[in-house]
Amino acid sequence: MDEQKIIKDYEKYVMPTYTRKPLVIVQGRGSRVWDIGGRAYLDFFPGWAVSGLGHAPGEVCQALSGQLKKILHVSNNYYNELQGKLAEQIIKRSFDGKVFFCNSGAEAVETAIKLARKYGNAKGKYEIITMHNSFHGRTLATITATGQAKYKRGFTPLPRGFLQVPFNDLAALKKKISAKTIAVMLELIQGEGGINVARPGYIKELVKLCNQKGLLLIFDEVQTGMGRTGKLFCYQHYRLKPDIMVLAKSLGGGFPIGAIVARRKIADTLSPGTHASTFGGSPLACAAGLAVFQAIDKNRLLANVQEAGAYLHKKLTHLKQKYPLIKEIRGLGLMLGLELGGPGQLIYEQCLKQGLLINCTHGNVLRIMPQLGVTKKEIDQAVKILTSVLAGKT
Ligand SMILES: *Cc1c(COP(=O)(O)O)cnc(C)c1O
Repeated sequence: MDEQKIIKDYEKYVMPTYTRKPLVIVQGRGSRVWDIGGRAYLDFFPGWAVSGLGHAPGEVCQALSGQLKKILHVSNNYYNELQGKLAEQIIKRSFDGKVFFCNSGAEAVETAIKLARKYGNAKGKYEIITMHNSFHGRTLATITATGQAKYKRGFTPLPRGFLQVPFNDLAALKKKISAKTIAVMLELIQGEGGINVARPGYIKELVKLCNQKGLLLIFDEVQTGMGRTGKLFCYQHYRLKPDIMVLAKSLGGGFPIGAIVARRKIADTLSPGTHASTFGGSPLACAAGLAVFQAIDKNRLLANVQEAGAYLHKKLTHLKQKYPLIKEIRGLGLMLGLELGGPGQLIYEQCLKQGLLINCTHGNVLRIMPQLGVTKKEIDQAVKILTSVLAGKT
């Protein structure tokens, strides 16, 4: 099929919810993808952080094809061999509790909201406080939790019981806590919001405050989880634990899966019949998830994220010294953002033309999140393209 026909089919038959670039991707491997014309691109924003192990990761593809020969789906009225195993992996590597599986980030956040509500309702509490510039998904409850007006416009009435406060501002948060508050939810690094990192002092005080007031602390690690920041989960940089953690994106290495982890004392709040997800924790999704954990260990990916992340950060710092358009570099590990003095859309488009895929978020922040196994050579190539774009040599 030719490119024009593919694009026309979308225009005719697919709802126009996304702004797409005219690029038809047909294949991928590691840090690279190929378009329908056979042109290669260096992908430094693989699958919107879904393809954390790069494209077509061997371990995941093998696990999936092995499972394909056995069974595709087992309903949650019965047991499958892998769901408990994956839950055990997640718990052993995070904190003691229990896991619920679903299929996406928004669905996982929605589950966290329902769990917090169910836990709070018993005490007459229901309010959840979230942060300005946060992003938690596109369902009705998760856009309400999201602290950005653009995602909510036109969808009223929204569910009640959500309040927003400025990020990294404990005093503002304290003022909003009432007798009805049950939880505080945040991303430790705001992804869609422009790579804003939570200050360690703020998080330390926040944990204390939540303990004092009996509030559940929910970390949305949909984007920061699974090694992205150099630790398996971003909260591990802060040396403390939440009550609930939300995962999705790269948990399945490209296969759709979402999950929430809740501390043991609250996990049983979602008793039989109170919540469900037909596809949740299917053998295929769990095979993929287990393979992701194995690949992270076997290929020493956390060490690579720390090393490659430091290398990329250093290179970007050089760029910042050279090009005053770059105002600030933020992030951790391989989750980096370049705040620009103006809009970043054109730079993103010029990088694409030169064969480098990145992302522009929040209008003026270039988001760079290569796969966890990215090499220094690939970083050099990407930075070379970015440099030539910044230098206006396109
Ligand atoms: C992407 C994202 C979500 C939503 O995930 P979907 O799978 O798109 O529903 C939620 N929270 C954060 C922090 C995200 O980055």
